[in-house]
Amino acid sequence: MTNLAMNLVNTASKHSDRPAIRLGDSVLTYAQFEHTTQLVAALLEQQGVRPGDRVALMLPNVPHFALLYYGALRLGAIVVPMNPLLKEREVAYHLSDSGARLLFVWTGFEQEGEAGAVIADAKTIVVEPTSWPGLLAGLDPVPGVHATNENATAVILYTSGTTGKPKGAELTHANIARNVEICADELIFVTEQDVVFGGLPLFHVFGQTASLNAAIYAGACLTLLPKFDPQAALETIARDRVTIFQGVPTMYTVLAHFPDRAAYDTSSLRVCVSGGAALPVEVLGAFESAYECVVLEGYGLSETSPVVSINRLDRRRAGSIGVPVSGVEVRIIDEAAADVAVGEIGELVVRGHNVMKSYWGKPAETSAAIPDGWFRTGDLARRDDDDFLYIVDRKKDLIIRSGYNVYPREVEEVLYEHPAVAEAAVIAFPHPEFGDEIAAVVALKPGAEANPEELREFVKSRVAAYKYPRVVELVAALPKGATGKILKRAITLTSV
Ligand code: AMP
Repeated sequence: MTNLAMNLVNTASKHSDRPAIRLGDSVLTYAQFEHTTQLVAALLEQQGVRPGDRVALMLPNVPHFALLYYGALRLGAIVVPMNPLLKEREVAYHLSDSGARLLFVWTGFEQEGEAGAVIADAKTIVVEPTSWPGLLAGLDPVPGVHATNENATAVILYTSGTTGKPKGAELTHANIARNVEICADELIFVTEQDVVFGGLPLFHVFGQTASLNAAIYAGACLTLLPKFDPQAALETIARDRVTIFQGVPTMYTVLAHFPDRAAYDTSSLRVCVSGGAALPVEVLGAFESAYECVVLEGYGLSETSPVVSINRLDRRRAGSIGVPVSGVEVRIIDEAAADVAVGEIGELVVRGHNVMKSYWGKPAETSAAIPDGWFRTGDLARRDDDDFLYIVDRKKDLIIRSGYNVYPREVEEVLYEHPAVAEAAVIAFPHPEFGDEIAAVVALKPGAEANPEELREFVKSRVAAYKYPRVVELVAALPKGATGKILKRAITLTSV
């Protein structure tokens, strides 16, 4: 029996008066947080929610997300977190695919999503700060926690995986609970003295496991930031004396180059973790020297709860995703599923406590993703002599120019070395002769200057001739997904 909600019950019994969740000046202690999840469980029961039912949450990073999440888990219900920016047809797809019975949406402050317009089988409950107490008023708390089989599904996280339409990765209580323990106890050593930065979206696996669930497991305080911007992040760090910062590379990029950074006291930072996309080595170095805090790069996916590998405080290597965490095995394989030699590039595959149970309702996609007990990540990687892993690229992002493999990541790393470059994405466009041709789309640092020709020459002088971008375009900013990942598919080239 490992209901993830037991972490909250245990922590609340040990640290009842300590702060659990904070948003601005409003703080919930563990006792208040735990009690409110009992009321949420009562609300859900009143709405007819039973173990195994799906409850969808379309909320930004507000305490209500955490309350609904743990309230639903207490009952043995399955949480379906959704990006609050989704548009109507996407919301409808998530609801019908997951068969959610209830949808909670947030209207506490302006959101760009369209949950309000959704007409689906799920009943919609609107959450906003003023109506929230009324929703829970008069309910009798449900103090128990449903004795859930540890292999029962706790959450369904929608992800595109390597291909196609979003699929719901079913993560079990055991998948998440074990990954949370490892994050908290073995990797970043979270304790009740820590203040965890909550700027990663909680609907995404990284924020959910490494920020929300790890903080609650360890009794730390999670200080939420509903919308990331560098100034608000620095204000939060300084105000709440944040000790653990977790972010995606674009957050590190803007923070490393934020002009007013010295005006904020960030000396409380103890450790930072980067994941979700490749952290350019330049950005790692710039951030570490600007904030005098170590950044550990890790790697994972929605399907792996998420952490597969990470650098350690005492064992790390820039540009690497570190080594696998406890209970997780990795292999790097070729097209015939045979292991490649050390230093060779192949697909990274994963086996262990963290690999999802299945894609919800999609047995064929599940077998394709886990054909032989090893989960296919779709990421291309290599291993060095000391077992450090390096992500070379996404399998599908690979550019093949004139028969030569070009890994965009490698070319992007070179662009990041240019002093004027803030962000870079290397993509392919069709070419009649070479198949793929290479383009780079670049955003410059505030106030910096460089022209496309100069950037092209900068890369050309540093890589083999088949790898440099023939076209370089400058943009104000690169398109980003909800977690801040650069969305290469949303880039349109204007000059070709
Ligand atoms: P998601 O399921 O949204 O978490 O996306 C997972 C994908 O993010 C992985 O398959 C990788 O392509 C990418 N990713 C995550 N962490 C890293 C990292 N440290 N370096 C490179 N790619 C990463």
